[in-house]
Order: sequence, then structure tokens, then C-alpha cells
Amino acid sequence: MALINCPECKTEVSEKALKCQKCGFQLRKPKRTIFGKIVKYCFIGFNILMLWWMVAGMSSASKVITKTGSQAEQAGAAIGTGIGAILIIGIWVAGDIILGLFTLLTRPKV
Ligand SMILES: [Zn+2]
Repeated sequence: MALINCPECKTEVSEKALKCQKCGFQLRKPKRTIFGKIVKYCFIGFNILMLWWMVAGMSSASKVITKTGSQAEQAGAAIGTGIGAILIIGIWVAGDIILGLFTLLTRPKV
């Protein structure tokens, strides 16, 4: 492992070190790995997609409810919408937890 001199205190530090061990001078900025970046964008994209799905699902469901004639049909559509919404929220929360964990694990170390 190559050594470099800290610009602040001239102590020899590893070139892989982010900070000088002696004076704490920041030698390099921590960067996310490519995998970490992918995870981060997946996390953002996933949330947008789920939000869009939720809004699209709700607006189409409300159209079905107002169009159907009988009360039984309306109730059925409402229950279906409720189950669908719970399903979407469930997938949303589970996906957020998994992607959130990955985001934490790939976070740059300081
Ligand atoms: Zn130093």
C-alpha cells in the first residue's frame, strides 16, 4: 500500500485513507461506489413509481366506483380498491425497507 504525505501535518498516511490519522485533515471526499449509486437511484425511482402507481390506481378505481350501477357493485369495487391499496402500500413499505437497507450499507464511509 502506497503512502502519501498529509498536506497539513506531513504525516505519512495511506493513499486509501479518507482522513489523516493524526490531524484529521480530509484527504479525499468519500464517494459512493457504482453499486451504491445504482441503489440510490433505484430507491428514488422506486418511490416515484409507487407514488405514480398509487395515484393512477386510485383515480381509475374512483371512475369504476362512480360508473357501476348497483350498490353491491359499488361495494365490491370499493373493497377491491381497498385491497389493492393495502397491497400497493405493502409492496411500497417492503421495497423501501430493502432498498433503504442497501442504501445504508452502500453509504460512503468517512
Ligand atoms: Zn495530517
